[in-house]
Order: sequence, then C-alpha cells, then structure tokens
Amino acid sequence: MVKPKAGIVGAGIAGASCAGTLSGAGWDVDVFDKARGAGGRLSTRRLGHGWATLGTPFISARRDPFRSQLREWVRKGWLEAVRGDVLQGRATVSWAQAQMQNHYRPTIEPSQLVRRLLGEASLHAHSPVAALKPRTIVLADGREMGDYDCVICSVPTPQALPLLEALPLLRESLGEVRYRPVWSFLMRWEGGPAAHVVKFDDHLLQLAVRQTGAGPGLWAVHSSYEFAETYLEASVEEASTRAASALMGLLGLPWPVEVEASHLWRYARPETTAGGFWLSDRENRVALIGDGIAGVGVERAWESGLRLAQALIQAREAGTI
Ligand SMILES: Cc1cc2nc3c(=O)[nH]c(=O)nc-3n(C[C@H](O)[C@H](O)[C@H](O)COP(=O)(O)OP(=O)(O)OC[C@H]3O[C@@H](n4cnc5c(N)ncnc54)[C@H](O)[C@@H]3O)c2cc1C
Repeated sequence: MVKPKAGIVGAGIAGASCAGTLSGAGWDVDVFDKARGAGGRLSTRRLGHGWATLGTPFISARRDPFRSQLREWVRKGWLEAVRGDVLQGRATVSWAQAQMQNHYRPTIEPSQLVRRLLGEASLHAHSPVAALKPRTIVLADGREMGDYDCVICSVPTPQALPLLEALPLLRESLGEVRYRPVWSFLMRWEGGPAAHVVKFDDHLLQLAVRQTGAGPGLWAVHSSYEFAETYLEASVEEASTRAASALMGLLGLPWPVEVEASHLWRYARPETTAGGFWLSDRENRVALIGDGIAGVGVERAWESGLRLAQALIQAREAGTI
C-alpha cells in the first residue's frame, strides 16, 4: 500500500507534534524550517560549553492530554517541575504563591525536546518556504515539493499570510491575528537576589529566569510587550543597554551586567486567535495549525498539531483522503 505523505512548514512544537504523530502512524512526513534546527520559540542558545534559552522558559499543562504528555516527558528525563523561590515585587514567595506550581522546565535542550517529538519525520533545516499551493510547498529557492496528501502550515499567523496568495479561501478565513513582541536577553551578573525567578511589577521588564546550563550568574530576562513595541526597530545595542539599565534599577545591581545574547521575538504571543485547533481548505489539502489558530502557549500549540494529525489519520483510514 502507498504510504500517505504530509509536508509541514515549521518545526516548532505544533509542527513537531503533528509530524511525530503522523510519522508514528506510518505517514511519510517532510518538515521544512527556515532556522538551523527544530524548536521555534522553544529553541536553544549555545554558550561556550553550555546552553541557555531565550524562548519559552516554562511549559505548563492545564488539562489532558497535555498533562499526561508532560508526566511522560518527566519520566523520560526531559522535564522537571520548577522549584526554588520567586521574587515578586519586593517579596520572596513560593511557587504556589506565585501561581507557578504546574510549571515545568526542560532539563534537556528545549530544541532537542522538540527534535525528539518529530520522530521519524525528515527535518529539512535552512529551508525557508516562500508559498503554499494545493498539495504543494514552494521553497524560497524555487523548488516545488509536492504531491502531498496534506500540506500543513505551522508558523505564526503574520508569517503564514504571505505564503497563502494561492489559497484565498484559507487566507480569508484566517482574518487578522495580531501578535505582540518580546525582547529577550541573556544577562550575567554577580550577586543580586537569591531567587530562581524574578517576576517584575514593571512596565519595562516582565520576568527573569536563572539559567543553570551555562555557568553561574546567567539569567534570561524577558521584556514587557510595551518595551518591545517601543524598541521594535532599535538596534540590539540600544535595546540591550535600555534593558540592562532598567534591570539594575529594579534589582539595585551595580555594574557590570553583561548582555551575552539577545533576541527580538516579533511574534512572541498572539493577542487574538482564529479559534479551534486548526483551519483547513479540504479541497486544496492545506491546513493551518499553531498558537495563532489554537491559542497562546505551548499546550495549545502542541494540541493543535496532535488533533490535526489524529483527524488526518482517521480520514485516511476512512478512505476520505
Ligand atoms: C519569550 C517567550 C516566552 C514565552 N513563555 C511562554 C510560557 O511561559 N508558557 C507557554 O506556554 N508559552 C510561552 N510562550 C509562547 C510559546 O513559546 C508558543 O506559544 C509556542 O512555542 C508556539 O509554538 P508554534 O509551533 O505554534 O510556533 P513556533 O515555535 O514559532 O514555530 C514556528 C516555526 O516556523 C518556522 N518558520 C516561520 N516562517 C517560516 C517559513 N516561511 N519557512 C520555513 N519555516 C518558517 C520558524 O523558524 C519556527 O521554527 C513564550 C514565547 C516567547 C517568545
């Protein structure tokens, strides 16, 4: 029997959960990502001999099936429940008081976690996609990859829109989904709070998370949306200097605070979403998943990939695709 084939754009958690579920059911799956590897907003930054993350610091589950999935990842040694102290405003509180008791953090590189979810699917890194057509993925270098039983687009909605010129129905049903940006920095300093997480009550900075995989004193510091919107077009140097001086003021730190890396997430989190787990143009065999469709956060993104894959597997078994 001929194996069904899927082509997926985007190797974030949504694309990876979809790819892994389909390949586990015997589908041939190609995954294309413009980046150098899997991960998306769960990517890893290599530093010397260690790693840190500028993306999602925590993974949390509100309900099944993601709750059971997180328990399995804990059993496999990929995640651990977050522990330690949280500095919130001027007080140091427990995880429960900070409402973070259901939060987990990766113990392996987050990008590796996503890579493992891909299962047997073939990942094509450094492969930006320029357009989608019925059953076909057009790469930026002009190559057309095709005759897929389903093409799945798993990128933030503002990045999906320009790919959908040849699919007006899907484009229209997507409507307008707005994302908000975040500037994230890896900063190293000596001294300061003994806490593991700092939740700022501030209009410039939102959160700082101690990093344990790349030497002492390293933190990931995430800006507020307002900060990122103000410094959306600023240089890395300007945004880093503004964030470091805001941090020093808030924590009463002396110089030097070294900024070792930074990243502007233009599409950090969706403000509105399309609704449901996926959107599809059945006739042309193209579907959209990810947090811009299903809702903000790792849980919704992961579940959108899973649910679409399950629906495709069922449709294949029923002979409708
Ligand atoms: C700083 C930050 C903190 C966050 N904190 C949390 C948190 O604490 N808890 C939580 O649940 N969520 C958090 N989130 C949100 C969470 O990370 C996302 O909701 C989730 O990771 C989205 O996954 P995704 O697969 O939908 O998209 P992504 O991870 O963005 O994956 C999309 C992929 O598509 C690729 N791509 C884009 N365009 C193209 C193209 N044209 N061709 C080929 N490839 C392309 C990208 O390279 C990327 O790999 C945070 C996000 C950020 C940025």
